[in-house]
Amino acid sequence: RCFWGRGVVSFMRSTSMFNNIFGKFSRDMGVDLGTANTLVYVRDRGIVVNEPSIVAINTRNDQILAVGEEARRMVGKTPPHIIASKPLVDGIISDFEVAERMLRYFIEKVHRESFSVFPRPQIVIGIPLGVTEVEIKAVEDAALGAGARHVFLIDQPMAAAIGSRLPIQDATGTMIVDIGGGTTQIAVISLGGVVTWRTLKVAGDVMNNHIVQFARDQFNLLLGERTAEELKIKIGNAFPAKDVIEAKMRGRDLITGLPKEVVVTSDQVREALARSIRQIVEAIKSTIEVTPPELVADIYERGIVLTGGSSLLRGMPELIRHEAHIPVQVADDPLTCVVRGTGMVLENFPAFRDVLTASTQYARGSR
Ligand code: ADP
Ligand code: MG
Repeated sequence: RCFWGRGVVSFMRSTSMFNNIFGKFSRDMGVDLGTANTLVYVRDRGIVVNEPSIVAINTRNDQILAVGEEARRMVGKTPPHIIASKPLVDGIISDFEVAERMLRYFIEKVHRESFSVFPRPQIVIGIPLGVTEVEIKAVEDAALGAGARHVFLIDQPMAAAIGSRLPIQDATGTMIVDIGGGTTQIAVISLGGVVTWRTLKVAGDVMNNHIVQFARDQFNLLLGERTAEELKIKIGNAFPAKDVIEAKMRGRDLITGLPKEVVVTSDQVREALARSIRQIVEAIKSTIEVTPPELVADIYERGIVLTGGSSLLRGMPELIRHEAHIPVQVADDPLTCVVRGTGMVLENFPAFRDVLTASTQYARGSR
């Protein structure tokens, strides 16, 4: 029995190794190329990359110094010959070359870590709603250039809905609001398609900027963007809470030029964020206004589902519930919904084939 057991184990080991090396589909990937964060899901393994969309480049020799978290730690601290670049702005690729290099870095990292040879993976990648053909093609080309064999596209809110396990293929209305770093995407989904939607370039990044502005206007204090973001996450809120909390913000005094520290309250930060949050709420309301009544009835019953990192801002669901008079819930692990959705598409391709967006490759007839 003992021998038998060992034999089975070693047989299983060798088959899994065989699959690792020669498995045609084993390294297929789902990718969420976000303005703030890039995530990669690998079939049978789950999420293997979850890092900021930042690349640090040495301009003297054009070499990549760091990617992801390591590059983020360099933001605002680089000497002149090093640039920390964010290749996406407002959800779309703004620096093609850097975006492609970042993707290639992550794809190669996945292969290195699994000791597999480099079978060119098929990639399912999310794209924001409402982008142009040219912007879609940039995403596709970046993925192809980074080593993909085929690229399949999916609308990010659709992926977020799938990742949140919402019944997107049923004849029932589901409203998903993905509030990320660069964009807020609002979509009503029914029968596997997006019925009504809005996208706005107001999300976490704009909120950070509003905190920077607030510090400058109120205290003549120059804040770094990272400090502003940390303050937002620490004490920011969207809806008045019982407990008012405080935090210190550190920056440079614009008058003396010297370091300065100011204590602010969560109420003050809410005021600073109010403008951006109001725009998000108005966009949700106006999407509901153009949604067919039967679907609105479904949404009313099922509630709005929030995804994306900025849905974690304290009081966000409460505010939307209060303003739209509809129940609201934040999805489980909202930062990973989109990539988990692309992963679910990979794992069950036949079931989700119809929710994919037409690729520009088809239009070009290259497949
Ligand atoms: P993207 O899809 O654009 O890459 P993400 O969904 O990854 O964006 O979300 C990133 C944004 O979420 C950032 O702007 C970040 O500041 C914000 N964020 C993350 N955690 C929190 C939190 N706890 N409270 C408020 N904002 C948050
Ligand atoms: Mg996103």
